[in-house]
Amino acid sequence: MPFRSPELFEGGVAAPAPSETSLWFVFRGDRLLVELGPPSTADSGDLRVTRRPSWARLPLFKSNNPLWFQPARPLYLGRLAGADCWAAEVPAEAPPPPAGTAWEGLRTLFSVLEDAHFALAGRAIQLLDWDRHHRFCGRCGTPTEAKAEERARVCPACKLSSYPRLAPAVMALVKRENEILLGRSPHFPPGMFSALAGFVEPGETLEQCLAREVAEEVGVQVSHIRYFASQPWPFPNSLMIAFVCDWESGEIRPQVGEIEAAEWFSVLQLPKLPSRISIARRLIDSVVAEIRGR
Ligand SMILES: [Zn+2]
Repeated sequence: MPFRSPELFEGGVAAPAPSETSLWFVFRGDRLLVELGPPSTADSGDLRVTRRPSWARLPLFKSNNPLWFQPARPLYLGRLAGADCWAAEVPAEAPPPPAGTAWEGLRTLFSVLEDAHFALAGRAIQLLDWDRHHRFCGRCGTPTEAKAEERARVCPACKLSSYPRLAPAVMALVKRENEILLGRSPHFPPGMFSALAGFVEPGETLEQCLAREVAEEVGVQVSHIRYFASQPWPFPNSLMIAFVCDWESGEIRPQVGEIEAAEWFSVLQLPKLPSRISIARRLIDSVVAEIRGR
């Protein structure tokens, strides 16, 4: 699953001294600093990505001068196969990056950057985002300090601790005999449909969230909710939890403003689908394969 924590990664908070083999995930906004090969002629497989590079890799920096700028708040991520991993955000006033490097979005780097590095880039961008937004105490406004022993920022005045936050979101693929229910939101690329999804509200179980979201978005009641899989989703800080369920009753009524269109699709005639970067595509592919195999 893309963005899944790599096998050989051990997360950590206490920072060692930068070493010869350190990996740096340097971001400018939501773009990662990489070295890129020439553009690939192959179809990107993602309606949101026009063209991918033929390859991409993290730039290597010299040990005693790891970056070309002084990062204000570098974050230690942990160790990947023995290499220390760091995240940093480039300040607006920093000089341009070294020759041969470029800033690129994570969607474009999917499947061309090494999988483990891609996953850690997703982790890095979320932690940088959290760190940037918790520099001051949310209760009393005092500048916060990083905790040495755990991933948290603490207020020295009132002791409020802030931890990285995830927004759990439920994804639902509704089945009815040989059909699946797919919808499109107004911000999807033209022609693309996907499984339904929505954020969990305080006080809800995942199953309740699913039933509510499906009822709100398309006016359909469901049953037999089965867990499929989950995926960390760093756009910007979600955990996607995907389920399959069965249609129970109701006809499709798309929610005004949220769902532009929703339809039952035969598994033999599907619309344009999301990229394999997302759990949505894996969920749809899995259910379609199961129905076709019957
Ligand atoms: Zn405080």
